[in-house]
Amino acid sequence: MAFNIAVDGPAGAGKSTIAKAVAKKMNLVYVDTGAMYRAMALFMIREGISVSDTAKVIEKCELADITIRYEDGVQVVLLNGENVNAYLRTEEVGNAASAVSVIPEVRKKLVELQKALAANTDCIMDGRDIGTCVLPNAQVKIYLTADSYVRAQRRYDELVAKGIACDIEEIHKDIQERDYRDMHRAASPLRQAEDAVLLDTSNLSIDEVIEKMIALCEH
Ligand code: C5P
Repeated sequence: MAFNIAVDGPAGAGKSTIAKAVAKKMNLVYVDTGAMYRAMALFMIREGISVSDTAKVIEKCELADITIRYEDGVQVVLLNGENVNAYLRTEEVGNAASAVSVIPEVRKKLVELQKALAANTDCIMDGRDIGTCVLPNAQVKIYLTADSYVRAQRRYDELVAKGIACDIEEIHKDIQERDYRDMHRAASPLRQAEDAVLLDTSNLSIDEVIEKMIALCEH
């Protein structure tokens, strides 16, 4: 059986930064499941489909072939064969991903892909439903969170560093809306698995969180 670490938590908690670093230190593959939902959202945006039109999204999602490849240890998301990594990290795509991810048909398709990947790969996988649905038997489960203002500030700093103009109040509002949607949807809502360890990163540095996670894995 492959060794799997499941990391869940709300937007901006630091999941991807931390999971990437832990993957490197522990020689594991990092699987970013949010990127798969983002690729599905990008497909809908490109097709001109409103993500609130559930029937259309269900119909069209059949046409989106989403796969994962690794190039020099970096996850590459292929949407119908095209590397779409460069288009996934915008707020527009993130919000649309949160909207399409409430649809069970979309989740079913992507969860199957995630389960298959983890079955034969030693990996650390991050998302919203990894410990609860995708990998219920993961050897280690962590629920990473932080205060919503701290998360908004981190997202703001990340965007500013990339030269993207943004407004912190708007980001905070987006984060709160996304949290609400992720936690209250009927299909696989975001919640801490009963056997997951809670890690609040509000007052911790990245290195401190990495250290704590590795200690949990070696326990
Ligand atoms: O983590 P990231 O911000 O890239 O995820 C984008 C959106 O995809 C999230 O807001 C969430 O709604 C959805 N998602 C999900 N299940 C996952 C990963 C992401 O519903 N396993």
